[in-house]
Amino acid sequence: MSSANQVLVLNCGSSSFKFALLNSETGTETLSGLAERLGSDDASITFKRNGNKNSLSLNDKNRHLDAIKTLVSYLETEGLSNDIAAVGHRVVHGGEKFTESVVIDSSTIKSIEDVSSLAPLHNPANLIGIEAAMVAFPGIPQVAVFDTAFHQSMPAKAYLYAIDKQLYKEKGIRRYGFHGTSHFYVSRQAAESLAKQISETSVITVHLGNGCSVCAIENGQSVDTSMGLTPMEGLVMGTRSGDLDPGITIYLMRKYGYDADKLDQLLNKQSGLLGLSGLSNDCRTLEQALESEDEQTQQSAQLALEVFSYRVAKYIASYTCALTHLDAVVFTGGIGENSDYLRSRIIAHLGVLGLSVDEARNTAARFGHSGPIHGNDSRAAIWVIPTNEELVIAQDAARLTFNHSQDNQQQGA
Ligand code: ADP
Repeated sequence: MSSANQVLVLNCGSSSFKFALLNSETGTETLSGLAERLGSDDASITFKRNGNKNSLSLNDKNRHLDAIKTLVSYLETEGLSNDIAAVGHRVVHGGEKFTESVVIDSSTIKSIEDVSSLAPLHNPANLIGIEAAMVAFPGIPQVAVFDTAFHQSMPAKAYLYAIDKQLYKEKGIRRYGFHGTSHFYVSRQAAESLAKQISETSVITVHLGNGCSVCAIENGQSVDTSMGLTPMEGLVMGTRSGDLDPGITIYLMRKYGYDADKLDQLLNKQSGLLGLSGLSNDCRTLEQALESEDEQTQQSAQLALEVFSYRVAKYIASYTCALTHLDAVVFTGGIGENSDYLRSRIIAHLGVLGLSVDEARNTAARFGHSGPIHGNDSRAAIWVIPTNEELVIAQDAARLTFNHSQDNQQQGA
């Protein structure tokens, strides 16, 4: 066992993986980086350490395994490998099986495989990372942390769809929700900022990144969230549509011959801010386009951002139904942490609930600066809190393997 409390956090996608080596107690990051384009001729891995970046090409015959082996060599060369006490893996879908993080053994792997059909793009990639890491770090405990686990506390009225209930009972079709580690983390940070016990804190957390979701958290527990069976439901996202009339898909199939692949492409890759604006999925680009001299560009960007913010506001308003009281609305994620423009647009729709923004505070809370942004007359606090999913994964991995004193940090359950 290492005394350094270092946890290697891996977030593995089908052709890339992100990694970070951090101290589970202090959150200090020693190393971070990204392996990308795995499976192609220009696969590479980039290490970020002490403010320096260093990229290497990968011999990519074995994709993730080669990349992880290169990471292991780097850790050895830099004298960091002996400090690793645990490896924490982000796993997207835990189904109903996983209500909290777990130490990985062969039965866990089998269970993650069993729910893979619910997240066919993500879970198999997460498993590749887990299996490669088990080979590369023999003897070091590995922990799986699920995006869905925090939301397993939702009541049936929130997670059931109003369709034939056999589809839930036999096929597991229900709301699971995602971004659980992020909603968990910022809600705990919010309770601390409000100087309240988490068990008495009710907040609506709004994670706005490339993927976007809202979560209603009653006394520390997730009671509703906007993503569903898959991460497509709910808010307008970078390229995902979020909510739409299910009849649209039937109409496109019957009238225009769409099949599953074409619908997937449309709703996952070509919709959201990109589809609405025809310009970009990137919020920064759209905010710049608001200043464009070309009227059509300016209007397209404005309309996309208006649909985006109105949808977020509708979710915040509707989630007040899930709570007995509202202590705070919390913004996080790349957009939530940085776009004072969109935060202001969103809260402007919520005047009827008595929420207001202080524009000077709103402008100040960007680029890593957290803080309250509500006006003095606002009926609930509004906070900007940077998320830290890696830290939650590292803390859960530490708690389950070498630092059992962190029991109160547990997410899910
Ligand atoms: P991911 O979901 O991939 O982790 P992020 O949380 O990094 O994504 O969020 C990416 C989004 O954040 C992009 O739409 C990006 O434009 C937006 N973003 C980042 N910085 C700013 C900024 N200064 N102003 C507005 N949007 C920003």
